[in-house]
Amino acid sequence: MAELLKGKPIADKIKEDLKKEIEGLKSKTGSSPKLVAVQIGENASSAVYLKAQKNTAESLGIEYILNNLSENTKQDEAEKLIDTLNKDKAVSAIILQLPVPKQIDAKKLVNLISPIKDAEGMHPGNLGQVLLGNWKLAPCTASACMALIESTGINLYGKEAVIVGHSEIVGKPLSLMLLSKFATTTVCHIATGERGVLPEHVKRAEVLVVAVGKAGLIKGEWVKRGSIVIDVGINKVGDTIVGDVEFDKASQQAAYITPVPGGVGPLTTTMLMKNTVEAFKAQKVK
Ligand code: NAD
Repeated sequence: MAELLKGKPIADKIKEDLKKEIEGLKSKTGSSPKLVAVQIGENASSAVYLKAQKNTAESLGIEYILNNLSENTKQDEAEKLIDTLNKDKAVSAIILQLPVPKQIDAKKLVNLISPIKDAEGMHPGNLGQVLLGNWKLAPCTASACMALIESTGINLYGKEAVIVGHSEIVGKPLSLMLLSKFATTTVCHIATGERGVLPEHVKRAEVLVVAVGKAGLIKGEWVKRGSIVIDVGINKVGDTIVGDVEFDKASQQAAYITPVPGGVGPLTTTMLMKNTVEAFKAQKVK
């Protein structure tokens, strides 16, 4: 029976370290990190994330400001705000909340955030650092997956790692992070599924990360005995939230498995705070 790989204890440890670090930085620089969230329009689902961000930030001593622009904000108005925040020396880090209304080009806005203030690690400059194996600000969910994998104490050198899902926020950056640890890394995606070869890739995974968004996509019997399974998927089935992996059956096979909810989720916001502190240090500590 697999050991549950919960995000909260790991997040708590990172937050405890961050809190101490922030206190030290405060006495050294005379200022505190400040994270500014930009939300365009109203969105019920992101309200939950915003609340979690604000609570986590404030509990650590990070100032958190929400900048709420109206639903019909024009692209150039949003760009102006990003420019102002980039220039504001008191702002350490900026996050653009998704989704944005249809008249807004989110990618363009993210690319306009100064790479040194990029709380989500999604600026091409920061993604480039992930490719070079030398990152400071990396995509939060990919970092959360790495923290979970590394918490097991596994030496990734030469291990078979299989990622299902090749998004820019999870699969692609995570594949580079795993490569930097010399894991033999395979990335599967929709075409792998359509070709019918997903089971054969999953079956040899010693480390399996699934980030698709389809409940039950990964059958329990495909999961390799003794493996580490990180389930990033969030799917609403009836009144419950489940991942992409058949949890009960996969638990019989794996050595470690993340619960959904309670695995990757609690760590993602923590990684946002870690990036904010890194951004603050890069700007204020010489
Ligand atoms: P996405 O929605 O951008 O892309 C989905 C990926 O799955 C693509 O690479 C696609 O090719 C692949 N895919 C689709 N059908 C497939 C199939 N049948 N077989 C194999 N691959 C298939 O991905 P995303 O934004 O990374 O989100 C993935 C899931 O992770 C979602 O459920 C999302 O809600 C969740 N998520 C959770 C967190 C968290 O903090 N826990 C953070 C980000 C995303």
